[in-house]
Amino acid sequence: MADNEGFRNDWATKDFYQVLGVAKDASAADIKKAYRKLARANHPDSNPGDEAKHEKFKAVAEAYDVIGDEAKRAKYDEFRALQAQGGFGTGMGGGFGGGGGGFGGGGFNLDDLLRDRAGAGGGIGDMFGDLFGGAQRGRGQQPRPRRGADVESSATIGFTDALDGVTVSLRLTSDSACPTCQGTGGKPGTRPHICPECEGAGFVVSGTGGAFSINETCPACGGRQLVYDEPCPTCHGSGRGTSSRTIQARIPAGVKDGARIRLKGKGAPGENGGPAGDLFVKVKVTPHRVFGRKDDNLTIDVPVSFDEAALGAEVKIPTLGGAPVTLKIPAGTPNGRTFRVRGKGATRRDGSKGDLLATVEVQVPAHLDPTAREALEAYRAATAGKPLRAGLFDS
Ligand SMILES: [Zn+2]
Ligand SMILES: [Zn+2]
Repeated sequence: MADNEGFRNDWATKDFYQVLGVAKDASAADIKKAYRKLARANHPDSNPGDEAKHEKFKAVAEAYDVIGDEAKRAKYDEFRALQAQGGFGTGMGGGFGGGGGGFGGGGFNLDDLLRDRAGAGGGIGDMFGDLFGGAQRGRGQQPRPRRGADVESSATIGFTDALDGVTVSLRLTSDSACPTCQGTGGKPGTRPHICPECEGAGFVVSGTGGAFSINETCPACGGRQLVYDEPCPTCHGSGRGTSSRTIQARIPAGVKDGARIRLKGKGAPGENGGPAGDLFVKVKVTPHRVFGRKDDNLTIDVPVSFDEAALGAEVKIPTLGGAPVTLKIPAGTPNGRTFRVRGKGATRRDGSKGDLLATVEVQVPAHLDPTAREALEAYRAATAGKPLRAGLFDS
C-alpha cells in the first residue's frame, strides 16, 4: 500500500512526458525512441560516479514504466486530466503520501473526502487504488483510444450543382461534454463524493462469484467514479451536451440522386487520442424541369407532331448550359425513338462529357380546326385498307 501511494504521489507531481522530452500526444514508438536515447546517454555503466546522470537514468526509467505502457499511460493521462480540471489541487502530492496535507486550489477538499471514507472499510489506499491505480486489479475499463463515431447527414442540391459539383455548408450536431460542468455532471463549485454505489471504481460487477462475472458501468455515477449532491444546472447531471459545428463539404461533380458520399475524418472526434469518425452525406438532387439524368447522359423528352414524325423535320432543342442544337428527325420516325446528341450530357470525372438523349413524343392534337380535320379525313381515305391491327388476331 505504501508503495502504491508513493507511486501515485509521483503521478501527481511528475510530468513523465517532460522527463522523456516528448509531447503529450506522442506515439508509443516515439516514446520508446526517446526513452532508449535518454537511457543510453544516462546509463550508470557509461557514466560511473556521475550522480546527476544516475538520477536522470532513474527518472527516465520511471517515466517510461508508466507512459511506455499503454494501460498505465491511459490511467496516468486520466489522472493528470482530472488534476488539471481542478478536481484535485496541485497539493495532491503532499496530501496523499502524508495523509495530512491540504488539497487547496481545487474544487473541493480531498481531506474531507478521505475522512468521509475513513469508517467505511477498505481504507484510503483501496479507494484510490480503485480510483487511479487499478491496473493490477483486473479492471475492464481502461480508457483506450477510441475512434469517433461516424456521422450521417444529408444535403439537397440543385440539378446543375449535381452535374458540376458544389461545396455545401453542413451544420452537424453531435454529443460532447457539457460545457458548464466539463462532463462531470456536478454543479460547478460544489465538491464530489466518491460514488457510494461502486465505491469509486466506476463499474459494478454483476454475476458475482463465477468466472464469468461482468463489469458494468456503474449506474449511479455513469462510470465517472464521483457523484455530486447538486447536479449541473445545464445538463441536469448527465454530463452530456450537444455541440454543433458547420463544415464545408465538397460534393463531387456528377453525383447522383440518393448517393452517399463519405468524407473521411469529418465525423465525431475520437476519444483518448483515437482518430475521428467519417461523415456520410446523403445527397438529394432536385429534379430539373426539362432534363433528366441517366448515368453520364442527360435525357430530354421532345414533343413532335404526327406530321413531323411522318414527314421528317428539323427540331430545335435546348442543351443544359449551352446553345440549342437542331435535331434532325427523319421521315417515318416512330414515337419513343431516342436520338443521341454527342457531348451534351453530364461531365464525367475525367472531364469528358456524356451525351444528350432526346426521345421523341408524338403528340395527338386535342382540337382540330376545320382545315386540319379535312386534311386528316383525306389522309384516312388515302390509307384505308392497310390492316394495322391484323397481327393482334393471329393465334
Ligand atoms: Zn459509481
Ligand atoms: Zn453539465
